[in-house]
Amino acid sequence: MPRMLTQSHRSMPSLPTPSLLQYPWGEALPATGSAVEVAPGIFWLRMGLPFALNHINLWLLRDRMPHPTQAGVMQEGWTAVDCGIDNPGTREAWLQIEQEVLQGLPILRVLVTHMHPDHMGLAHWLCNRWQAPLWMSASEYQSALMACTGVSNFGGEATVAFFAAHGWRKAEELAVVQSRVGYYKSMVPSVPTTYVRLLEGVSVKIGERHWQCISGYGHSPEHIALHCPEERVLISGDMLLPSISTNISVYAMEPESNPLQLFLDSLDAMSHLPEETLVLPSHGRPFKGAPARLQQLRDHHQDRLDELLVCCRQQAISAHDALPTIFKRTLDVHQTTFAMGEAIAHLHMLWLSGRVHRLMGDDGIYRFRAAQS
Ligand SMILES: [Zn+2]
Repeated sequence: MPRMLTQSHRSMPSLPTPSLLQYPWGEALPATGSAVEVAPGIFWLRMGLPFALNHINLWLLRDRMPHPTQAGVMQEGWTAVDCGIDNPGTREAWLQIEQEVLQGLPILRVLVTHMHPDHMGLAHWLCNRWQAPLWMSASEYQSALMACTGVSNFGGEATVAFFAAHGWRKAEELAVVQSRVGYYKSMVPSVPTTYVRLLEGVSVKIGERHWQCISGYGHSPEHIALHCPEERVLISGDMLLPSISTNISVYAMEPESNPLQLFLDSLDAMSHLPEETLVLPSHGRPFKGAPARLQQLRDHHQDRLDELLVCCRQQAISAHDALPTIFKRTLDVHQTTFAMGEAIAHLHMLWLSGRVHRLMGDDGIYRFRAAQS
């Protein structure tokens, strides 16, 4: 399961500006309430987020589906990909889109890449407003439902105990983590009661195009990216971002997990993408150069792993001890929650591949030490 965003819902270390990527629209961005057509019938929207990461990209795809009440009649309209968080500003932006972009046609389907609030927040509102079905993967749907009812990894006792076992012991900071049980619900107040399931390899026909679902792991339970080989377009969600690295975290609910390995494997599953593929990411700008970007992300994580392994050779360290090594700036409490998850993810990859041992001390803290080579 996921956790939420500030700037570092994706991860904190900033990456060098990629020079091998091309941005076909340069610095141009769609204004709130308007759209940029990035391929025939594919429109780029941008909604605000009240975080350091201050925007999300959404996509509108011209679509055509059988009319619900008239046999043999096709209904023209749109598929929306991702929704924005639920707040007055985003609802207002969607109403503007309705006036200025939808050309009087309805939203026929709401497709959500994953359950994080910036993607999922307004799904309930859009689905209800248009009587449109929600399409997403089963794990993401169920995780959203759980997070909405307070069973989440964003705060509360289990999360506090998990972080404490990884060396974060400052009581006043953990009190903040303890209080965040309702954090998800504040941005995703409800989830549609039904959905249509997306799965790896499923082909979704949107308008005249066929989109292949590519499942991705490590960032969220079962993220779905959409690839249209004929059009050479990938809607990458949070799995492939041009200028920040996707947040990869271990969470309290699954404390022994290895999400970084899952994420790197998921990157490999995208390595067949041709160079000229237009990648439509959830944050940043549309770009070309997927193979180069995939390699940058692999290198980025390998560098973090190498740095941590050096530390683990010098002494046994907890995830909290590791923070200054992989996050070279001061972190507030909120950022520390992301950083802890990410530090544990890197240490777990070293641990579960046998490069470090994990031992719990008498103080109840897990520490990692390099295995004898
Ligand atoms: Zn996300």
